[in-house]
Amino acid sequence: MHAAIVSVGNELARGRIVDTNAAWLAEQLTYHGYDVTAHVTVGDHVDQIGDALRWLTGRASIIIVTGGLGPTQDDLTRHALASLVGQPLQEDRDSLKRIEARFKATGRTMPEANRIQALVPRGARPIPNDYGTAPGIWLEVPLQTHRCTVVALPGVPAEMKRMFAERVLPELLKEYPTGRVRVERRLHAFGLGESHIEERLRDLTRRDQDPEVGITVHHATITLRVTTSGRTEREARHRMEPVVRTIYERLGELIYGEDNETLEAVLLRELDRLRLTLAVCEGLTGGMVCERLVAVAGTSRWLRGAMVLYANDTKLDLLGMPEELLAEHGAASEQTARYLAEAVRLRFAADLGLATVGWMEPPLGDAASDQIATVWIAAASELAVTAECFRTQADREEIRVRATKAALNHLRLRLRRARPR
Ligand code: ATP
Ligand code: MG
Repeated sequence: MHAAIVSVGNELARGRIVDTNAAWLAEQLTYHGYDVTAHVTVGDHVDQIGDALRWLTGRASIIIVTGGLGPTQDDLTRHALASLVGQPLQEDRDSLKRIEARFKATGRTMPEANRIQALVPRGARPIPNDYGTAPGIWLEVPLQTHRCTVVALPGVPAEMKRMFAERVLPELLKEYPTGRVRVERRLHAFGLGESHIEERLRDLTRRDQDPEVGITVHHATITLRVTTSGRTEREARHRMEPVVRTIYERLGELIYGEDNETLEAVLLRELDRLRLTLAVCEGLTGGMVCERLVAVAGTSRWLRGAMVLYANDTKLDLLGMPEELLAEHGAASEQTARYLAEAVRLRFAADLGLATVGWMEPPLGDAASDQIATVWIAAASELAVTAECFRTQADREEIRVRATKAALNHLRLRLRRARPR
């Protein structure tokens, strides 16, 4: 069953507002087994809305429109719907009463302009709005080829979401039953590039397979999205199990978590499991490692503290680094990272120390290009110090985000195999 979404508003079309409505609606519809095939964004013009609707009625059974139902002159969705089906707009008495009552409830009288919100094309059905003034509109479009329903909802996200969930979705499922739900499971991996990961999973990521496996990258985290459908969520989850198992077998410890799990939350779980405290010394990441850890509830039990040491002399003064060591290897070296990880561990009386140092430089002869970063990450415990070199090319901010993840991941991998004391 094909569904489509139309977002109406000049600000949306011009990119001033990000269209979160369409994303939310598409997720909802997809979960309930509909095949969302198009999102169209148009400005506040009857013609543009009409063109979009005419194009989509030929391609989808369900079209959800959001925005343009307000009382002002630029709210033209209802006019476009009326012209789509060639019917006049008519005042709906119940809607008018509800709008008036809404104003009265807060001691105001209804401005004449709001009267327009009670208009629906003849033959269409208003959808009551308990959260704002603009009712929605349920419109059947007479077509020879297939049944087509257009549902218009207000643009304000909070109103739209509740109306959709409470009034529209139950009706759609009755009128257009799919009998299925589509479920997604996301596996997050870090430490290998997108194409290397895909190489290991080629047979799974081939197009038109069920379960479907998609790959996306976000700040160097590779996410594998496994999706499939079933009569129930349980059945769908059961169907994706073998594919998920294969992905785990092939990627192993590259995968750090699923769905909403973050690297820092997973790392903290490891610290929790092993009952180990941590101290952090940051250079290039400038506090981002600490900031991420602090964002997770329960950090206070395991995070002792963090330092950001940027200038060289601070490494000497605050962590007692021998001047010869710094002079010999440089500030952004493996040896310095190792020294700082161990020194910060002792300074904070923690079980573990984690350090990041590094530098960024433009590629040779190309100052305008993204920077190339070389980051040394070290993790120290009573037993050993480990270090890893992480290299990447991006803009300054992105480099810091990736380096932060690389540091968290280094420690995660190191702790994974450790036994509780
Ligand atoms: P209103 O009665 O508030 O005028 P409306 O149906 O006319 O409702 P719009 O005027 O199009 O809705 O949008 C109202 C506000 O809701 C916008 O200013 C914007 O902040 C938000 N909004 C509208 N559409 C979207 C969208 N697709 N994604 C995210 N936010 C949106
Ligand atoms: Mg409006």
